[in-house]
Amino acid sequence: MLVQNHTIRQAVAERSISNGGKTDAEKDLLCYRTQGFAPKGDQPCYLDWTLQDAKAKYELLTQRNIPVWVVEPVRGGRLAALSEEDTAKLHTLRPEDSAAAWAFRWLQTLPNVKMVLSGMSSMEQMMDNVKTFSSGEPQTQQETALLMELADNLKNALPCTKCRYCCDGCPQGLDIPMLIHAYNDVKFSGGGMTVAMQFDALPEDKRPAACVKCGACASICPQNIDIPGALEELADILSKTPSWAEMCRQRDEAARRLKEQK
Ligand code: SF4
Ligand code: SF4
Repeated sequence: MLVQNHTIRQAVAERSISNGGKTDAEKDLLCYRTQGFAPKGDQPCYLDWTLQDAKAKYELLTQRNIPVWVVEPVRGGRLAALSEEDTAKLHTLRPEDSAAAWAFRWLQTLPNVKMVLSGMSSMEQMMDNVKTFSSGEPQTQQETALLMELADNLKNALPCTKCRYCCDGCPQGLDIPMLIHAYNDVKFSGGGMTVAMQFDALPEDKRPAACVKCGACASICPQNIDIPGALEELADILSKTPSWAEMCRQRDEAARRLKEQK
């Protein structure tokens, strides 16, 4: 397994996937607009294993003999900066390890993860990552269980079970469970790259702003989720989030300026 600073575009240029798309995970693969480098929940970090259905995507890629490359293994730094309470829990088992090291060691339990594209912004982070990947010490079941417990607390999510009871009655034909999962993701991460990529690939009439607030979904939801309320909030957040294309443009512009300064 390699650890590299690498841009998504470089990675995308080297991979391609094509499939017909039947299951949710397959649809997600097709949804991902960077031409199949990885599914939209492309960071099978321990948090997204269930939050972004990364487990199903990982298994699908593995069945098709497609190696998994992990983007944002610490969720844009969020999993490298846990609360004091969560950090203390991790330190009870491994006092020396950083939160990032825990996330990376969890990835090492997945044999089809062949590349980890870790954004590192300091020499200290790089040394820490090199130390983690050099040791290659397998994570124990007890350690993995602790991480999953932490992930459950981090999500604090709307409890959608993906039963899809709400979908048939939606006059707008929205993929409500997918949108609720996006809502949970946004609430956790405060927006960001994953959500921007996901929604860039959706037609306007399938985005949360297309909800007409008829309430048909909420009246049938066994989890009593305020679906129109969540979609309104999600639409509002998305309206303030740059598109994936804009994020790429800004990134290219920043790289160009950096190059000119050298
Ligand atoms: S409230 Fe919105 S999401 Fe729910 S059924 Fe009506 S249009 Fe669809
Ligand atoms: S009915 Fe409720 S729990 Fe079931 S998929 Fe829809 S939002 Fe999720």
